[in-house]
Amino acid sequence: MPLYEYRCLDCKRKFDIFIAYSDYGQKTVICKHCQSANVTRRINRIRIAKSEESRLENFSDPSSLEGLEDDPVALGKMMRKMSGELGEEMPAEFDEVVNRLESGQSPDDIERDMPELGDDLGGSATDGFDDDF
Ligand SMILES: [Zn+2]
Repeated sequence: MPLYEYRCLDCKRKFDIFIAYSDYGQKTVICKHCQSANVTRRINRIRIAKSEESRLENFSDPSSLEGLEDDPVALGKMMRKMSGELGEEMPAEFDEVVNRLESGQSPDDIERDMPELGDDLGGSATDGFDDDF
């Protein structure tokens, strides 16, 4: 039988309880300490870890970048965060671009100032991450 973790909303204490899958949701769970039925199941850690994983997946989804080209500061912050989460050393050009974005320059201005970047920052801001750097 699986062990569920509950917290009592009346006495604020935590307790564990074994509930058969067939009983889960059927049976009223009662606090072991004060017999209150005013209890809530605690959020389990595995779920939290999974939602972090899907947050990372969202980063690699190009559609999550839509609209950011109009907001260079947000784009710069996002790029910095992304490089942090990847844990990879980024080239100096990358830092330069992020700094410029965070100071409010548009990708078009940066491209003009840094012609060596080519098309990397043009239509799709994600291209540079995988290939060209
Ligand atoms: Zn209680």
